[in-house]
Amino acid sequence: MAASFDLDTATAELAARTAEFVRNVVVPEETRSGMSLHHADEQLRHNLVASAKAAGVYGPHVPKEFGGHELSLRRLAAVFEEAGRSLLGPLAIQAQAPDEGNINLLDKVANAEQRQRYLAPLATGEIRSCIVMTEPDGAGSDPNALATTARRTDRGWVINGRKWFISGAHGASFGIVLARTSGKPGAVAAPRCSSSTSTRPD
Ligand SMILES: Cc1cc2nc3c(=O)[nH]c(=O)nc-3n(C[C@H](O)[C@H](O)[C@H](O)COP(=O)(O)OP(=O)(O)OC[C@H]3O[C@@H](n4cnc5c(N)ncnc54)[C@H](O)[C@@H]3O)c2cc1C
Repeated sequence: MAASFDLDTATAELAARTAEFVRNVVVPEETRSGMSLHHADEQLRHNLVASAKAAGVYGPHVPKEFGGHELSLRRLAAVFEEAGRSLLGPLAIQAQAPDEGNINLLDKVANAEQRQRYLAPLATGEIRSCIVMTEPDGAGSDPNALATTARRTDRGWVINGRKWFISGAHGASFGIVLARTSGKPGAVAAPRCSSSTSTRPD
């Protein structure tokens, strides 16, 4: 059976509205401010997010409970393509790396408290986040080389290690840290969990 990549009407309309929004609102702002992704100030980001919400194009990937469109991956591709025509476009719809991925991850694994504390303000565009993986001695391409450790205590976790190349760390309200709770760098650990299937079938 041949695969169809035709868009449904609602997604095609959202992609067209996103293209129009980027052309009429975001690109002029990019030209005026001279700012781009990871160099935009928070005020500009907040203004763009507010404009995207007013135009109904905010958060194509964001769960509906936080005001997004909750699209499947295939539909997202069409909308993200239009947002990406300006470096500030993903910022306006909160789809810039790593926030898009962090929203997706938290939506799948966060408990009720984490959902409220981290996912809600991130998904609504109130704050930014970062992902803290890469280390000077590996653990970039190869997470198996992770040397940063996380140890449980009665008051929380103690994390020890060095990280670098963390995009958007400056100004991020929180970071998702990759650290090991057991084993040694380089040793192949048995998988602790299996990947979950998408809850947004196409
Ligand atoms: C623009 C930009 C933004 C970034 N943002 C972030 C961020 O937000 N958070 C974050 O944590 N990191 C971030 N990084 C870091 C990025 O994830 C790493 O640079 C990348 O994963 C590669 O890791 P590395 O630089 O340590 O190189 P290495 O992992 O040391 O790789 C160097 C070379 O060795 C090869 N190699 C490594 N391990 C193996 C192996 N086991 N087998 C075979 N070949 C191997 C690689 O393919 C590569 O060619 C960013 C990097 C860039 C350029």
